[in-house]
Amino acid sequence: MQFHDLKLIDPLLRAVSAEGYNEPTPIQARAIPHILDGKDLIGCAQTGTGKTAAFALPILQRLLTETPGRARGATRVLVLSPTRELATQIGDSFAAYGRQTRLKHIVIFGGVGQQPQVEALRRGADILVATPGRLLDLMNQGIIRLNSIEIFVLDEADRMLDMGFIHDVRRIIKALPSQRQTLMFSATMPQDIQDLAAHILVNPVHVAVTPQATTVEKIEQSVFFVEKKDKRALLEHLLDDQAFRRVLVFTRTKHGANKLAQQLDRGNIRADAIHGNKSQSARERALANFKSGKIRVLVATDIAARGIDVEDVTHVINFDLPNEPESYVHRIGRTARAGAGGIAYSFCDIEERAYLRDIEKLIRLRVPVISEHPYASPLAAPVSRPENPAPARRQPAADGREAADKPRRRRSRSGGQPHNGYTPAAGRVNQQ
Ligand code: AMP
Repeated sequence: MQFHDLKLIDPLLRAVSAEGYNEPTPIQARAIPHILDGKDLIGCAQTGTGKTAAFALPILQRLLTETPGRARGATRVLVLSPTRELATQIGDSFAAYGRQTRLKHIVIFGGVGQQPQVEALRRGADILVATPGRLLDLMNQGIIRLNSIEIFVLDEADRMLDMGFIHDVRRIIKALPSQRQTLMFSATMPQDIQDLAAHILVNPVHVAVTPQATTVEKIEQSVFFVEKKDKRALLEHLLDDQAFRRVLVFTRTKHGANKLAQQLDRGNIRADAIHGNKSQSARERALANFKSGKIRVLVATDIAARGIDVEDVTHVINFDLPNEPESYVHRIGRTARAGAGGIAYSFCDIEERAYLRDIEKLIRLRVPVISEHPYASPLAAPVSRPENPAPARRQPAADGREAADKPRRRRSRSGGQPHNGYTPAAGRVNQQ
């Protein structure tokens, strides 16, 4: 598949080639034709998949090839982004892909004076990229009206909700013409995102991409069956081993993240938590301390952990299994940055077995079980599951497609040992 096959027009093809892109990414290949067709679309994709070009290219093309439906010279596209950084990046993408055109864009966000933005708005633009707070501000002052918007993009919808922007977003959507094309992107699809999608999209096309399975393959994964009440003790037991040098621990809730970080800290394991309720500066501080090695354990919720790009995370621990299998892949990917391998351990209590099954279906692997550990109990261990599972069998992918590649073998890196080097007697996980 080439960009040319996507029926993109010349100025865009030239821009894409100037960017050095050889071929469309999966989300681009799958989303661009529908967006060009004018369909509503919901894309499940995280940053790094090329999702910005997946919407920016077809939007630019529609602006160039279709006459404005409403007032001439008015703004026709609104892109909402949760953060100033992302808004700026999106603006840069429109500039890069639209460089061979005369289309103009403006980026507005809070935290800076509004005057330059107001002046830019007066000069006019085809595309407006904005964060919700500042946009509403300017709407309330009568400086921006959204009645000429033909295409609306809600980017990183899950992060938007996590950051508490839902009411702002709803108010903005109310001000949009109901006749419009709507595109929504989100890395995860929890129920509240699905509800929002049902509310704002009309007969949407669904496009989902998961990160490369090859990343998952490089990571040594194991699961511990453990009772919920013993999870913290098991974690502390693992952390006795200094090979767990920089450890990212995932919990399902913000409260759980706080509690666990405090408990570890009290037990003399330097830890901090990051999640959506923490201020930007508190998150940045925790991250900086994690990077510098001042804290050994960072406890995070899924959405807060997005964008964490810390080199050399030695272990990812799923203290709670995620209820969305895609999150598992995103989480463990944090220990395999820059193509390096890593180690990921998951704690699974009796209520989380179904999550584990969904994960294994998605990654098409049986995650090896570590059955000998101090907190193993008959209550926690499933009866029917083999302790040392056979190499992963080929299973249909989550979307029903058959895996195209060869069945994958799981082998412990330490050679003959079945358990990723974890030796319960010594309470150690060997350094690889
Ligand atoms: P995004 O997911 O939109 O944040 O994009 C991630 C990165 O991938 C950006 O740096 C883009 O410039 C780059 N990118 C987007 N599309 C392609 C492509 N088709 N080929 C190579 N790189 C791309």
